[in-house]
Amino acid sequence: MIDVLISGGGPAGLATAIRCAQAGLAVTVAEPRPTPIDKACGEGLMPAAVRRLAAIGVCPAGHVIGGIRYLDDRHSVDAPVANGTGLGVRRTVLHAALALRAAALGVEVIPARVAGFTQDVKSVRALLAPNAPGPPASFAARYLVGADGLHSAVRKAAALDPAPARRRDGGRRRYGLRRHYQLAPWTDLVEVHWTGDCEAYVTPVADDEIGIAVLGAPGAGNLDARLAAFPGLLERVRSARAVSSSDDRGAGPLRQDVRRRAAGRVLLIGDAAGYLDALTGEGIGAALAQAEVLAACLAAGRPGDYERAWRRVTRKERVLTGGLLWSRQQRLLGPRIVPAAAALPAVFAAIVNQVAWA
Ligand SMILES: Cc1cc2nc3c(=O)[nH]c(=O)nc-3n(C[C@H](O)[C@H](O)[C@H](O)COP(=O)(O)OP(=O)(O)OC[C@H]3O[C@@H](n4cnc5c(N)ncnc54)[C@H](O)[C@@H]3O)c2cc1C
Repeated sequence: MIDVLISGGGPAGLATAIRCAQAGLAVTVAEPRPTPIDKACGEGLMPAAVRRLAAIGVCPAGHVIGGIRYLDDRHSVDAPVANGTGLGVRRTVLHAALALRAAALGVEVIPARVAGFTQDVKSVRALLAPNAPGPPASFAARYLVGADGLHSAVRKAAALDPAPARRRDGGRRRYGLRRHYQLAPWTDLVEVHWTGDCEAYVTPVADDEIGIAVLGAPGAGNLDARLAAFPGLLERVRSARAVSSSDDRGAGPLRQDVRRRAAGRVLLIGDAAGYLDALTGEGIGAALAQAEVLAACLAAGRPGDYERAWRRVTRKERVLTGGLLWSRQQRLLGPRIVPAAAALPAVFAAIVNQVAWA
């Protein structure tokens, strides 16, 4: 029996695998999709995320991010990074780098989906549905980690989803879509273009490529229809080749409330552990921080400590993203976010640097 089986080989799952392997635990990942895995994402890594990746020996190629710019049709305000630099990284590049590091540490990846589990006081037995035709197999481990994303099957099987009546999105569900353009970035800032009910995030990911992710309510149509709400941005990319338009990717609903992070020997991490929104672009950094504390709890044989550690390392992000999302969704407050940031650029820069990017 191995120590840890991880369901999902995205950034959260692979970072946890790397941390566990570095702590001397025997770890296996079950992931049905082949490497490198792509996903709808803004692909911006904050300085703290870049540092956390370097700490586990992962240094992917990308484009330096020097800060963030908020824009609407009348205002523009920049918050340069005061300490360190961020990185725009294609998801496929990030995934390949994480997978390479995990393999170098002896982490095995099984091409299978975790379809359920049973557990007793000493172990968890997961049901694996293999990619190839054939019967499901069972796999025993001391712990099972659910790192299987927004719609986590492990979370569902562990009954850690809240009852529908206790969901807190107020019916205002948000989704994300993304596309890449072959175009030299015109700035090293991540641009966040704000309009009525959605935002467009522009991230430089290479010297000749940018990614655009649009977040907003459902029903606004496909990505082209959504981009029409941003005429200035559309003008910039009009003559550029859309390198992934046949492969526009979406994700959502983004908000996933979760009752708690553990049920016995089953623990959740990353988007599976609960997610608010991509508004502050912190998902990967948060997953890396969670991986560090989760691996420490498992290595110490103290899974019961994880919930408190998770709350501690995600508190800042939950407060910031929750506050911004709430403001965004208020009829009077939402349209005033960019004007307020433009009126108080030093405060905006301080919030970005002290709270979001530290
Ligand atoms: C539009 C958008 C923009 C975003 N922008 C940013 C940004 O700029 N910066 C940032 O840091 N974050 C951003 N995020 C958030 C970020 O993408 C996520 O937080 C991050 O991908 C979470 O990683 P994860 O490993 O938890 O989940 P995922 O990346 O979703 O990985 C989950 C993995 O689990 C696998 N899986 C699913 N089900 C099973 C199963 N039953 N068994 C086994 N494996 C399974 C999947 O194949 C997948 O590989 C954005 C998100 C969206 C939607």
